[in-house]
Amino acid sequence: MTNYNFSGGPGALPESVLIQARDSIEAVPGQRMSVLGISHRSEWFESVIAEAEDNIRALLGLPAGYHVLFLQGGSSLQFSMIPMLLLRGKGLTAEYLHTGYWSGKAIPEARREGAVRVIWNGEHDAFSRLPRDEELAHSQKAAYFHYVSNETVEGLQFHRTLGRDDVPRICDMSSDFLSRPLDVGRYGLIYAHAQKNLGPAGVTVVVLHDDLLRDVPEGLPAMLDYRSHVQSRSVYNTPPVFAIYVVMLVTRWLLHEIGGVAAMEKINMAKAAELYALIDGSDGFYAGHAAAADRSLMNVVFNLPSSDLERRFLADAEAAGLYGLEGHRSLGGIRASLYNAVTPRAVEVLCDVMESFRRRHASRRKSA
Ligand code: PMP
Repeated sequence: MTNYNFSGGPGALPESVLIQARDSIEAVPGQRMSVLGISHRSEWFESVIAEAEDNIRALLGLPAGYHVLFLQGGSSLQFSMIPMLLLRGKGLTAEYLHTGYWSGKAIPEARREGAVRVIWNGEHDAFSRLPRDEELAHSQKAAYFHYVSNETVEGLQFHRTLGRDDVPRICDMSSDFLSRPLDVGRYGLIYAHAQKNLGPAGVTVVVLHDDLLRDVPEGLPAMLDYRSHVQSRSVYNTPPVFAIYVVMLVTRWLLHEIGGVAAMEKINMAKAAELYALIDGSDGFYAGHAAAADRSLMNVVFNLPSSDLERRFLADAEAAGLYGLEGHRSLGGIRASLYNAVTPRAVEVLCDVMESFRRRHASRRKSA
């Protein structure tokens, strides 16, 4: 039996995809070549990348005018490529939200390229909640507006689209891309690395509107210029063929086996509801980190009454075959990540382990 993967990333992948990925190491379908050795210029790979793109377009219902790119460097490189394109030498200011660990990593990278205004900072609330619309004063003159739709570390997720329609909206969707429907036509650029909901690490999906490429600063290195990747259809240099192949398989699974992002959202909502109900009904034994209105469907972050109990809980969970539940190194506690490929059955098993742990230890606390 393999473990149930609740890790914050790399996350769980569908079993059917893992089997096809395993087989592809020996030979990809219809070819006598391993996925690890087949040429990125082969017809086979051309069809893989085309299907991956088509699947993403279909899942998002992508309007005309958008490019879908498969890039390297992770989401962290997007923290730099975006301000290089939209801020460098423009004399404008970019707006950022500082809602948690990952938006906090994006902001200093943007500052290397130009002026940044942080229009909301959740640090004083220990990143336990997200801003309401009336707390945000957006400027019409901003170069762009950047936010993180799902803060993976703190388990905070926006359940609405933010910003103004007349300023390019840029969103890091690394940890909730394709987990729910999206009004994608309202965004200038969306990015998401693969290792949560899409596949293995090594490739990052960027969806960007062609309008953003009208005024590219001079002198960008070719690898950091989106136009190189648009012109070469993501094969400017040797791409991570295996990672892109798995992204194709996962998006095919999402489209044809799950039935699309609306169906996926329903499943994700049911999984998160079960776990949050257990936390809320635990008499405070399990204490959620995020304010209820901003809770993430993807990352459920909580604490137990003491770090000693947290250690014991993690040991019990590991013995029960539950992997990756320790919180992010910056926050501690417990984090259960419920990405698309985490099954309802896995969440049931987690809830059983949590309930039985609470029964044993809550009563011991009372009698002590
Ligand atoms: N943004 C978010 C929301 C993330 O969760 C992460 C990593 N978990 C990153 C960015 C950084 O991604 P990468 O490791 O691909 O650079």
